[in-house]
Amino acid sequence: MRLILLGPPGSGKGTQAQRLVQRYGIVQLSTGEMLRAAVAAQTPVGIKAQHIMASGGLVPDEIVVGIISDRLDQPDAARGFILDGFPRTVPQAEALDELLKKKHIKLDAVVELRVNESALLQRVETRVAEMRARGEEVRIDDTPEVLTKRLASYRALTEPLIHYYSERRKLLTVDGMMAIEHVTREINRILAAIGAVEAKAAKKAGEARRTAKTAKSGAKTAARTASKPAAKGTGASGKAAKASRKAGKPASMRAKKSSRKAPAGSRVRSAGKARKSAKKVTKKRAKA
Ligand code: AMP
Repeated sequence: MRLILLGPPGSGKGTQAQRLVQRYGIVQLSTGEMLRAAVAAQTPVGIKAQHIMASGGLVPDEIVVGIISDRLDQPDAARGFILDGFPRTVPQAEALDELLKKKHIKLDAVVELRVNESALLQRVETRVAEMRARGEEVRIDDTPEVLTKRLASYRALTEPLIHYYSERRKLLTVDGMMAIEHVTREINRILAAIGAVEAKAAKKAGEARRTAKTAKSGAKTAARTASKPAAKGTGASGKAAKASRKAGKPASMRAKKSSRKAPAGSRVRSAGKARKSAKKVTKKRAKA
């Protein structure tokens, strides 16, 4: 899976990226993290970037495009990646298109976390105040003052990417103001709806969920019918689950159900998929 996570600073991109990394075994490529590491190590790139970052400005394109290009060549990126904090401008997106074309890599989707800016500022102010109260170190560019500048830069330079990727039919929008868990669930759901989640990964995740569910319902049955043999109850619910899976709804119906809840951006694509699978079913029926 190859994704871009788009959203203003403080929108929870980092948190969601981490969750995707754990779930799908892909790598998170964060230009901010890489630059901070370069600053800490005082490499030539780090020395150049240090002051720009501290003031909330953008590091020159050739630097960030260069570090992303090198990182994409590393073996761990071959299984999939999430770009976090890159691209940040239309020229960077164009440079990325070129890079991916040269490297024969296809982007699956761009996930936009949409948030309310004033709520975002308040969130950061609270977090910074709490960290200071605990005596923890606050990131130099994470103060409300610098954040205001970073938000302005996001609006002016990064937001046009929403249109850029929407035109290329890559954009999926998620409400980033929901609780972290809900945002994660919604991202996973829309990725599955567009087929970005490889069948193997989706099947594995589904099986794990079903096993947990069966075990849970088995345990409940066992608890309820303590006098009856527990194995019988577990086996029956397992069979029932299998039977209902076998009798599963047609793919077109499932796609319809998932697209109903999807945000506008994803609805377009999942609706297209539903149409395609409906056509397949019709063809199969015609053949039979
Ligand atoms: P982040 O952790 O993504 O918020 O990035 C922290 C800082 O690193 C930004 O405020 C920029 O100064 C710099 N930076 C990160 N990614 C980029 C990028 N794609 N283009 C330019 N500057 C970047």
